[in-house]
Amino acid sequence: MDLFTLEHVSKRYGDTVALAPVDLTVTEGRSLGIIGESGSGKTTLTRLMLGLSVPSSGTVRYLDQPVVPGRYGPSRLRREVQLVLQDPFASLNPRMTIGQIIAEPLRLLHVPGNRRELVRRAMKEVELDPAWASRYPHQLSGGQRQRVAIARAIAPNPRVLIADEPVSALDVSVRVTILALLRSLKERIGLTLVVVSHDLGIVQHLCEETMVLVSGRCVERGTTDQILHRPVHPATRELIAAVPSLPL
Ligand code: ADP
Ligand code: MG
Repeated sequence: MDLFTLEHVSKRYGDTVALAPVDLTVTEGRSLGIIGESGSGKTTLTRLMLGLSVPSSGTVRYLDQPVVPGRYGPSRLRREVQLVLQDPFASLNPRMTIGQIIAEPLRLLHVPGNRRELVRRAMKEVELDPAWASRYPHQLSGGQRQRVAIARAIAPNPRVLIADEPVSALDVSVRVTILALLRSLKERIGLTLVVVSHDLGIVQHLCEETMVLVSGRCVERGTTDQILHRPVHPATRELIAAVPSLPL
């Protein structure tokens, strides 16, 4: 089943072409990696998918419904597509407890069920001790905070998790554990991931499909296996050469 369908979607900021027109389909069960150097348009593309940014041209659809930026209220997209960002410290409210942080989307999205129980379950899914629900973000390590951000994202039981540079702010040893967690969540709860990274090694670990952006243009797209073993574009070869050998 096609989750996202983008037709000729582009984004400009003044004279800057953040994203040249792109056609893209994200299919359920085929996780997508979006790779490219800093400034290549990766975050722009995810913001367009989420309706957080208005396209300069084209249309974005989620399950055949047009994604309309600025529309409020719990739509299917808001519940079924959740987001994890690079820096968990910046994205977690320091005045809220871990339990309150994870419960917030459940409250905002009116997710039915016992909220305390749903929070507990999400914490267990990300291997956080549910007793920590009363702690605050500053009492946790970077890796634990990213687990909280992931727990918050999966608590409403989404179909799609968009992860924008999910491990870039973490120490290398912690990166490996968070990548393993994302992979096991993907397999256990059948999530479709959209993973943004400048590191092809991360996408290799998590995604069946890969697209390569260079200066806002999609220069290559295919299965991750094709991209890794039979790259066509020189920029892709450079990204492959730059893959740090993570102990995955
Ligand atoms: P990436 O996530 O790959 O690092 P971005 O999508 O953030 O790249 O940015 C792509 C391009 O669009 C960059 O040149 C960036 O400076 C520009 N850009 C992104 N957001 C804005 C904005 N809100 N205003 C102006 N330019 C922006
Ligand atoms: Mg970015």
